[in-house]
Amino acid sequence: MRSITKFDLQYAHRFYKFQGEAQYLHGHTGVLTIEVEDSIEPGVNMVFPCNEIQKVAWNVLKNFDHALILREDDPLLPAILEVYEKQGIKNGAPSNKMKGEAFHTELATAYPDARLVVTKESMTVEGMIKIVYELLKDKLNIAKITFTSGVNAATQEYAPAGTVDRCPLCGVALVDGVCPKCGYKKH
Ligand SMILES: [Zn+2]
Ligand SMILES: [Zn+2]
Repeated sequence: MRSITKFDLQYAHRFYKFQGEAQYLHGHTGVLTIEVEDSIEPGVNMVFPCNEIQKVAWNVLKNFDHALILREDDPLLPAILEVYEKQGIKNGAPSNKMKGEAFHTELATAYPDARLVVTKESMTVEGMIKIVYELLKDKLNIAKITFTSGVNAATQEYAPAGTVDRCPLCGVALVDGVCPKCGYKKH
């Protein structure tokens, strides 16, 4: 069975060199849906608690919220960093609190202090799905990712890898046979 979790992401981006309106800087509310597949853990009668999926995924997804997402070769990138630098917000600001965990993968690098994600490819809905899968595939048993942004939408199914040992009392993934949330030990 699947547990399905949704996330709202407010972001600005553009498709550098794309022949269309999207080559101009603009913003969206994107909706990301992550489907996690596994057996039902009988103790809690859940695949995985959705608030736990939220916690694991949001930790990195926060980087895309109220953020600017630009391709690595976009000349807007140095221009914006120069403005942020002059304004003294490039390396963070007291009001910049909802920061994600910095990450670096083949496809994207997050700079939480500047609320910036630099991508290898244009951040289309398809591109975002590739980035998110790369970031979360080892943390969640992902079966499907869907991303919609304005009138654009894309979806991709994956073969979930095996099963995760979960706590029969609270449903979270066990770490070395121990529940990090309630301390339950698997015998
Ligand atoms: Zn767009
Ligand atoms: Zn537990």
